[in-house]
Amino acid sequence: MTGPVEVRRIGIVGAGQMGGGIAQVCAQSKYFVRLADISEDALENAISSIRKRLQRLIEKNALTPDELEATIENISTTTKLQDFGDCDLVIEAATENEVIKKTIFEKLIPTLRKDAILATNTSSISITRLAAATDRPARFMGMHFMNPVPVMALVELIRSIATEEETYTAINDVVTKLGKISITSEDFPAFIVNRILVPMLNEAVYALQEGVGGVTDIDNAMKLGAHHPMGPLELADFIGLDTCLSIMQVLHNGMADSKYRPCPLLVKYVEAGWLGRKSGRGFYDYTNDKPISTR
Ligand code: NAD
Repeated sequence: MTGPVEVRRIGIVGAGQMGGGIAQVCAQSKYFVRLADISEDALENAISSIRKRLQRLIEKNALTPDELEATIENISTTTKLQDFGDCDLVIEAATENEVIKKTIFEKLIPTLRKDAILATNTSSISITRLAAATDRPARFMGMHFMNPVPVMALVELIRSIATEEETYTAINDVVTKLGKISITSEDFPAFIVNRILVPMLNEAVYALQEGVGGVTDIDNAMKLGAHHPMGPLELADFIGLDTCLSIMQVLHNGMADSKYRPCPLLVKYVEAGWLGRKSGRGFYDYTNDKPISTR
């Protein structure tokens, strides 16, 4: 399974906040994009969010109406994993759950070209273990975009133990074409950004749980005292509390170190279905125009 691949068509599985953002930046860079999700609603939301974000660029004179239409036309949507036979690269960006991701690969792989590259946007799961669940470990790697994708410059690239150099080169070329910058992380739990960031968010939830401060105190403390653009609880809500919890679980299991134990209050919020911005409630309530702290 060797030979260079020139990426022209990109498939994306999962049309949540990350998949929608990845679809947008790929389509804006003139790739043909096929976006899949099990949920029709997620697909519709993704396209309408992309349209809204592009509309804002038009208002800032950063895009023309023709470019908006051309970008949207570059994206087709589907609820079937069988529609990826013409893709050179498929990026999996579904829910952060190893079983879900492996089930997606199982269904997807028989429909892919033998030389197609498979990438995952996982925030934390072992790339080597996910690669081993596919028929193409040499053509598999981690391509970890940051949220919100259209704004954030970084993409973390993670090779599995089996990734071929030409897979890495092809993906790095895509990152460059998207106008983004890559850094390379070894395949350790949560890679670089989330290894450092998410335990800090988890610690903020411990501080909240222990009553060290309220939601606004903790967020203002880090915004005004450490010059962070967003407070840790606001950022956790933005990332998604289920995703934050999942990353802590991967760190806890993968490093076998109690310093990574997920905060019980974070677990409770996720169990309640309070997942942050995307569900309308997390450490803040988002049902009104202005988020209101809940503790
Ligand atoms: P999300 O909950 O917004 O979206 C996940 C989407 O996957 C949903 O639309 C869901 O319907 C879909 N999905 C679930 N099972 C599926 C299946 N079997 N087939 C097709 N679609 C399926 O989550 P998200 O925040 O977009 O995260 C997606 C991935 O990106 C995760 O691996 C996450 O760790 C990673 N990531 C998230 C962030 C972040 O800040 N949220 C940042 C970088 C990477």
